[in-house]
Amino acid sequence: MATDIFDSSASGAFDRSSLPPETGALTESAIPPIPPAHSGTLLLPLCLPSIAFGMVAVVVGTWMFHAPSASLLTFAGCLTGLLTTIALFRRQEAAAIAVLNRPEMRGVNLDVTGVFRSLLGELIHKTELHEKQCHDLTEQRARLEARAHLLKNQVRRLAHTLDQVEQPVFLLDGGNTLIFRNSRANSLLNAVTGTDQMPAAAAWEQLGSVKALVDAVRNRSAAADKRTDELELKCQGELITYRAEAANLYDDEGRVAGVSVVLQDIREQVQETAKQAQFVSSVSHELKTPLSSIRAYTELLMDDDVDDPAERLELLKFIDEQVDRLTRLVNNLLNFSRVESGVIKVQREDTDVNRIARKSMEVVASAARQKNITFVDELSDLYLPAHLDLDLFGQALINLVSNAVKYTPDGGEVRIRTRMQDTEAVIEVQDNGMGIPADAMPRLFERFYRVPQNSKAAAGTGLGLALVKYIVTNIHDGSISVTSQVDRGSTFSIRIPLGHRDRGSRNPSSQKSTR
Ligand code: ADP
Repeated sequence: MATDIFDSSASGAFDRSSLPPETGALTESAIPPIPPAHSGTLLLPLCLPSIAFGMVAVVVGTWMFHAPSASLLTFAGCLTGLLTTIALFRRQEAAAIAVLNRPEMRGVNLDVTGVFRSLLGELIHKTELHEKQCHDLTEQRARLEARAHLLKNQVRRLAHTLDQVEQPVFLLDGGNTLIFRNSRANSLLNAVTGTDQMPAAAAWEQLGSVKALVDAVRNRSAAADKRTDELELKCQGELITYRAEAANLYDDEGRVAGVSVVLQDIREQVQETAKQAQFVSSVSHELKTPLSSIRAYTELLMDDDVDDPAERLELLKFIDEQVDRLTRLVNNLLNFSRVESGVIKVQREDTDVNRIARKSMEVVASAARQKNITFVDELSDLYLPAHLDLDLFGQALINLVSNAVKYTPDGGEVRIRTRMQDTEAVIEVQDNGMGIPADAMPRLFERFYRVPQNSKAAAGTGLGLALVKYIVTNIHDGSISVTSQVDRGSTFSIRIPLGHRDRGSRNPSSQKSTR
């Protein structure tokens, strides 16, 4: 997602103030004003002739015309005129400087002669000086602008890269102000606050536990420069567990300049751990029950407590059943891990789907008989060609048929149906047993999941359906679905591509070969 990193309302947003300041336009205030000229030196050529002329007038008037008072009066008049001229000149000079200091006067050709020549000469010199300064400053500005452009691009690229990160990422500056969040972090803030209208800084305040972690890493930066914690955040009403890592960010001098926070949604890991724990406890229970029975009956037999041969045979049969149960359990576990880890080599061959369906019924027949459950064979009369691994696909069907028997009360009925539909072969296993509650449906094919309401009806590990799904979808390119009603029964449907590989499949995807 390309975001304008300076748009604070968007994700991936850096606060503009976090960047080095851009060079602004060169203002007039940057040009030093022209100082007043040294009018003393400039006026000296003007003053000297006047004073000399006045003094000559006094001497001539006194000696030649013997009129000292008239001469002095003349001299005084000259002096007054001179002083008035100086005063007026200085005013004009100040006004001229003020005008010349105006920016629009830059470049005006001051081709003036006379008493202003030196003044203007000095001003022109100063103007040239200022122009040079302007030129230097413009160059400096261009350099800074180029650098700012480079930095902006780097920041934009960084923001874009962080936007691709799956985890929410936050960056805070030294003053604990949120200066960046990637798009995931933005979504998280929206989910926590329940709105996308709240400013990011205000939304950040709502992440109390994350803020506490940031404070902890900042306050104890001497001890460790990062801290990790597992915390829960309420997102749209759901509590989600996150692993949060906060790390100090340092500047070139090694001072803490900010903190980065990365959150990782570990919901699935937490659920997986809980499932594993539940699995271990259920497997141990499943193993312990038959083992304790075997031990108890073996001790009876070893102690010669049972003399009657018929009774001894009964005990031996019971031990045998328990051994069977254990074997089934261990096989189930091994099968699952072997298939899933790819240890078992898949060997697919051209076959008739009905053949495998019939075989699976035969395998489960004795268990069905024990519960007085009727098998109804509704297999298609047509040859249903498919390219299957006989053992694995057979195992999948056996699991479905044996589940139907396990979760159907005595005297019930199990129907196995096959048919051709478009380019697929459909196999259905239907029972009229206890059914599956609607809330259990989404988790039915998860590993180790057992429907709590049904778990007492039969022993199990919750691996059967997960294995079926793996075999059907991952190995045979098919699909599996289920419909069910509590106390009315369930129907599991498998669909696989029709066609033999050797004779040209009707569905090319069924050619996907063996591992
Ligand atoms: P398990 O070893 O417990 O039988 P499965 O993976 O085969 O494990 O099945 C998972 C759960 O689905 C079972 O525990 C059971 O509660 C439920 N289930 C499976 N098949 C049926 C069915 N035909 N009728 C009712 N519930 C079923």
